[in-house]
Amino acid sequence: MDKPVEQSCFWLSTRSASRPAVRLQAKSEADVTVVGAGFTGLWTAYFLKSLEPSLEIAIVEQGCTGYGGSGRNAGMISACIDHSHALAINHFGEMEAGRLSRIGLRNIEELCAFAIDCDVERTGQLHVALAESHVAECRKFVATAERLGLDGYRFLDSNGTRRELNSPLYMASAFAPGGGIINPIRLIDKLVQVLSDQGVRIYEQSRVTGIEKNLVRTDEGSVSSRKIVLATDSYSHHLFPELLQYFIPLYDYVVVSEPLSAAQLDSIGWGNRQGVTDGRNFFNYYRLTADNRILWGTSEAMYYANNKVDTACDHSTEKRVSLLSSFALHFPQLADLHFPYSWGGPIASTTRLTPFFGTLNSGSVYYALGYTGHGIGTTRLAGKILAHMVLSKQSDLLKMQIARKKPLPYPPEPIRNLAVNMVTRSLKRVDSGHNPDLLLHLLDIAGIGFSS
Ligand SMILES: Cc1cc2nc3c(=O)[nH]c(=O)nc-3n(C[C@H](O)[C@H](O)[C@H](O)COP(=O)(O)OP(=O)(O)OC[C@H]3O[C@@H](n4cnc5c(N)ncnc54)[C@H](O)[C@@H]3O)c2cc1C
Repeated sequence: MDKPVEQSCFWLSTRSASRPAVRLQAKSEADVTVVGAGFTGLWTAYFLKSLEPSLEIAIVEQGCTGYGGSGRNAGMISACIDHSHALAINHFGEMEAGRLSRIGLRNIEELCAFAIDCDVERTGQLHVALAESHVAECRKFVATAERLGLDGYRFLDSNGTRRELNSPLYMASAFAPGGGIINPIRLIDKLVQVLSDQGVRIYEQSRVTGIEKNLVRTDEGSVSSRKIVLATDSYSHHLFPELLQYFIPLYDYVVVSEPLSAAQLDSIGWGNRQGVTDGRNFFNYYRLTADNRILWGTSEAMYYANNKVDTACDHSTEKRVSLLSSFALHFPQLADLHFPYSWGGPIASTTRLTPFFGTLNSGSVYYALGYTGHGIGTTRLAGKILAHMVLSKQSDLLKMQIARKKPLPYPPEPIRNLAVNMVTRSLKRVDSGHNPDLLLHLLDIAGIGFSS
C-alpha cells in the first residue's frame, strides 16, 4: 500500500516548518479570496499586498499549503518563463519572445533573492544530447538564445559534457545560465510566513465546493469578497469545467535517492550541480538535493481518462520501474543506489506549453493556469499579472500576448483520450530514433505541443 503523498514526497515529508492547520469553519469576509495555496495563489497574494497593503486577503486550500504541484515538483528553476525561446518565437513573435526572455531573467533574479534561505543554488541548467539529432538541437538552442541577445549560453561537446556530469550516454549538451535548483517546499513555507506576518489568513484542509459570484464555499464555511482568484491549476475543472477546453491535466512522476557518499559523487562528477534535462520529447530531468540525493523524474506524464486528478494517481508502479531503469542506463556506476522516495503530482498542460489568463463569473473570478512542467518561475510572474488584473492596475505585462491570448483548445473526451494516446505513440517513436510522422508534422504546423 503506497503512503499518502505528504509522507512519500521527499519535500513534503521532510518539511521543517509545521503550523497547525486552520480550517475555514465559519462565514467570513475579505477583499480578495484566493482559492489554492500553491505558488500561483501565494505569489498573487504577495503582489496584491505589495500593491495595496491594506487589502484583507483570505487563501483557502483543500490540503496543506503546497499540496499540489508546488510542493511535489523537481525544484529546477528555469530562467525562461516561455518553456523555450524557440517556442515563444513561434507563438508570440521574435519581439515578444525577446521581452519574455528578459522578463524571465529579472523574475528569476528577484525570486532567488527572495528565496535566499530556501536551498537555492544558481547552477544554470544543462540540456544533454543522447542522439545525433539532439546535438543539432543543442547548437540551435544556443543560437536562438544568442539571436535574442542573451549571454552565457554555451555548447559543450561530449568530453566537455562528461566533465560536468559523467554519463556514458552523453553526446553533447547546451548550458543555459540564469536558472538553478531550489527546495520548493521551503519557498512555499517562506511565502506562507511572509504572508501570515502581513495578516493574510490562510485556511488549510478546506476544500472549496463551489464558487458563486462573490462567495467561496466549503462544507464548513464561506468567504464573501468582491474579487476571487482561482489558483487551482490542474484541479481547476473541478470548479469550472469550461476551463478544460484549454488544458489537459497530466501526472508527472519522480523518485529521490538516499544521499550519495563522497565516492559515489566522485564517480559521476557533477561538481557544478546543474539541473539537467535531455533532448527527447519524453525526457528525464534530474538534480542534486542540498544533502546530495538525486531527484530523477520523467516528462513522460500520464493522462488519466476523463481528466482524472485524484489521490489515486499519486503513485504509479509502472512509472517507478521505468524511472529506475532509465537511471541505471544513465549511471551504471551507481547501480547500488536506493531510491526510498517516489511520488507523482498533477500539472496542467496547454497546447502552447505556457499558461493562460482570464476571468469567469461575469468578471469576479480571475485565473491563471497551465504552466505545463515549468511553473516555479512562471507562477511568480503570473501572480504579478493576476494582482494587477484584480486591482485594475496598469502594467505593461497585461499588454503581452501571453497574458491576453488563449492557447488553441484541446478536443473534449472521448476524443481527448484517443488523441493523447496517438500523439504519445508518435512522440515515443521519434524518441526511439524514427522520423516524425504526419501527425507530428501537422501538430507542428499548428504550433501544438504535448509535453510536460
Ligand atoms: C512531479 C513534478 C515535477 C515538476 N518539476 C518542475 C520543475 O522542476 N520546475 C518547474 O518550474 N516546474 C515543475 N513542475 C510544475 C510546477 O510544480 C507547477 O507548474 C506549479 O507548481 C503550479 O503551481 P500552482 O500554484 O499553479 O498549482 P498547484 O501547486 O497545483 O496549486 C494548486 C492548489 O490548489 C489547491 N486546490 C485545488 N482545488 C481546490 C479546491 N477545490 N479547494 C481548495 N483548494 C484547491 C490544490 O490543493 C493545490 O494546493 C513540476 C510538477 C510536478 C508535479
